[in-house]
Amino acid sequence: KILVEQTDPELFAAIQAENARQEHHIELIASENYASPAVMWAQGTQLTNKYAEGYPGKRYYGGCEHVDVAEQLAIDRVKKIFGADAANVQPHCGASANEAVFLAFLKPGDTIMGMSLAEGGHLTHGMPLNMSGKWFNVVSYGLDKNEAIDYDAMEAKAREHKPKLIVAGASAYSLHIDFERFAKIAKEIGAIFMVDMAHYAGLIAAGVYPNPVPHADVVTSTTHKSLRGPRGGIILMKAEHEKAINSAIFPGLQGGPLMHVIAAKAVAFKEALTPEFKAYQEQVVKNAKVVAETLTQRGLRIVSGGTQSHVMLVDLRAKGITGKEAEAVLGAAHMTINKNAIPNDPEKPMVTSGVRIGTPAMTTRGFKEEEARLTANLIADVLDNPRDEANIAAVREKVNALTARFPVYR
Ligand code: PLP
Repeated sequence: KILVEQTDPELFAAIQAENARQEHHIELIASENYASPAVMWAQGTQLTNKYAEGYPGKRYYGGCEHVDVAEQLAIDRVKKIFGADAANVQPHCGASANEAVFLAFLKPGDTIMGMSLAEGGHLTHGMPLNMSGKWFNVVSYGLDKNEAIDYDAMEAKAREHKPKLIVAGASAYSLHIDFERFAKIAKEIGAIFMVDMAHYAGLIAAGVYPNPVPHADVVTSTTHKSLRGPRGGIILMKAEHEKAINSAIFPGLQGGPLMHVIAAKAVAFKEALTPEFKAYQEQVVKNAKVVAETLTQRGLRIVSGGTQSHVMLVDLRAKGITGKEAEAVLGAAHMTINKNAIPNDPEKPMVTSGVRIGTPAMTTRGFKEEEARLTANLIADVLDNPRDEANIAAVREKVNALTARFPVYR
C-alpha cells in the first residue's frame, strides 16, 4: 500500500477516494457487498503469479502443488455449502459461468428459454445484444398480473417451443422462485435445466431462500453478491455433467484460472459455512422486509407486492420522479442505488421508472431493523423533495452520522 502511494500517487488517490465512498455512503445496490478483510487479503497474495491451466492434479504447468490445495479447498467447501455433486470454481465472473454452460450443451441456433430482461432477468439469459441473444433463438417468459413469475405461461411456451435449455434466475425479482416447477417442465420436454442463482446465492447458502441444487442440472452463480466473496463465478452440477462443464470452462472458454481469486473464494466459502453467516443472511432478509414496508408506508409501490429476499424493485411514479433522477439525487444524499426498469416501464432503459434496492451491503456493516427503517425513511425524505438542495443536504448529514456509527473496515 505504501509502495503504491509512492510509485503511483494518482491511482492511490482514486483507491483512497473509493474506500471513503464505500465507508460514508449507504450501499444499496442489490448486487454489491463488502468482502471480508480475509477475502481481500487472499486476493492480494502471490497466487496471482501462478499459471495453473487444468484442474487440481491435472495441470498443464509445473509447480501447481500449492495452488491445487487452494482450488480443492474451494471446490470441497462450495459443494458442502450447497449440497452439490460437483463444482467448478474457475469462472472469472457470472457471465462467463453462464457462457460455459451454453458452450457445454448448445450449438448456435438452438432455442433457449429465460426470463425477460425487462421483467427481471439477466442480460446473459437471452438479451438481443448479449452473446446469448445473438447466438441462440430466445424464448422469454415473464410476470403475471400480480408481478410473480407466470409459471403457467412459461410452461405453455416451453411445450410450444421445446427449448434445449431453460434458465431460471433473475437480477431484479424479489420473490421465491419455484425451482421444482421449472425442473418438472424441463424434464417433460427433455431440456437442460440451468439455474443462475447469482443474486440469491448467499441466502441459499444460509437456507433462507429455496435451494435450486437438488432440482437443476447445473447451477451458476457469482461469488461477490449476497455470497460476499471475491468478484468471480462458480458452476455447480450433477456428476454426469462435470466433464462437459469442466472442459467448457477450460479449454473451451478460459485460459489460466485466477488462483488468487480462487483462494479468496475458498476463504469466502469457509465463512459461508459458519453460524454467523446464517445469522447475517437472516438479517439481510429481515432488513429487506423492513425497507419494503417502510417505503410502502411512505407512499411508494414495491413491485411484486413486497420482498421474500434481499432485493426489491421500487416503482417511483407516485413521486413523479424517474429512476435516473432518483439515482442522482439519492447519490447526492450519499445513498447508492441503481435505476431499474419496472415491468411494462413506460420510460427508456437509461431513464426507467424504478430503482432496485438491496440489503446485503448495509447488513454486512451491521445495520439491523432500526437502521434499515431509518435508511428507508431517508430515501423517502429525498424522494418527497428531490429538487430541494437543502433537503438533500439535510438527509446527507443524517446519512453521514449513520455510516459513521457503522464503519465497514474497522
Ligand atoms: N447472473 C445474474 C443473475 C446477475 O445478476 C449477474 C450480474 O449482475 C450476472 C449473472 C453476471 O455476473 P458478472 O457481472 O460477474 O459477469
